[in-house]
Amino acid sequence: MKLVSLGASCMLASFASIATAQNVKITPLGSHDGELCASDRATLFEDPTGVRILYDVGQTLTGADDPRLGTVHVVLLSHAHGDHIGDRKLKAAGAGSCGAPETVSAGANGMTAEVAAAKGAAIAMTTDMGVFVATKIQKITGKPVGLCPQTGGATIVPVAAVCRSNTHLGAAFVAKTANAAQGVEITIVYASHANNVAPSLLSDAQRALHDADGSGLALGPPTGFVVKFTNGLTAYLSGDTGIHSEMKTVVHDYHKANLAQFNLGTSAITVNSVAYAMNDLVRPASVIYSHVNEAVTEGGKLKPTARAAAISKLLKGVTPQLAISGRTMEFDGAGKCVAGC
Ligand SMILES: [Zn+2]
Ligand SMILES: [Zn+2]
Repeated sequence: MKLVSLGASCMLASFASIATAQNVKITPLGSHDGELCASDRATLFEDPTGVRILYDVGQTLTGADDPRLGTVHVVLLSHAHGDHIGDRKLKAAGAGSCGAPETVSAGANGMTAEVAAAKGAAIAMTTDMGVFVATKIQKITGKPVGLCPQTGGATIVPVAAVCRSNTHLGAAFVAKTANAAQGVEITIVYASHANNVAPSLLSDAQRALHDADGSGLALGPPTGFVVKFTNGLTAYLSGDTGIHSEMKTVVHDYHKANLAQFNLGTSAITVNSVAYAMNDLVRPASVIYSHVNEAVTEGGKLKPTARAAAISKLLKGVTPQLAISGRTMEFDGAGKCVAGC
């Protein structure tokens, strides 16, 4: 009896040491290395099993060949606004200022399609946006984009050819490396926002149609994601959103998110509602500030006048993290940053 209990405790100890070595790596790909800047959106996630996910390509990559990208297995798109789908790209690494990075047109296909085509990645987003982006990818590669193949409910990455998820709001896409026991589960969740596609990505005929009325073409609902990594980290990627009740019912109660990457943009949400969303609705262990729309840091240090600083003062039991471009943060399965913060 004594031997059995000793064996069990040894096993527990060894599981614990394996778990601490298995962190999710999160690297913001912003406009200015070492800072958190106005246009920063793009974030690279790497699961311990090797699955690499790019969340919202944005406008701060220098191109699909941006050397910071490396391997990308899955490209996520929360909504089709230009600052997320990537209607523009950074003119050069560090171009312009942190408050106003210098960008150039990303062309008629946009950066989400360009990166997915160049990387041979799976795209995971609502079907409304997936079909739109897939049409752009086909214009780049000359090949039609099919649905991602499924093996036991998962798509094995890297995929053999660019493919798209078959997912509406509430559905999940699972990306798994061939030898992993478990995949990364990406669920599309609600966002309280808008989803008009960046006008420069429309065909001439569509653009003329909408210009006449000052209207826009919406590609279905805007979204966020809940990403369950294999180490237990459950990340809520908010997309652009105002405060809404599903942050509690779906993101907290059901998914039990322990990390949030949350938008701070003034056109989407207020300081007090960010704090309420974190303290009372989502209640993650940590929040990574994103979509800050101002130069939040100078020399890598938080500016006391930034909205992020005001929000941090209101947080209770939620640890804020700045998404410093080029700095890799490591999160454990409980949503705690254990390195690079
Ligand atoms: Zn938006
Ligand atoms: Zn935005």
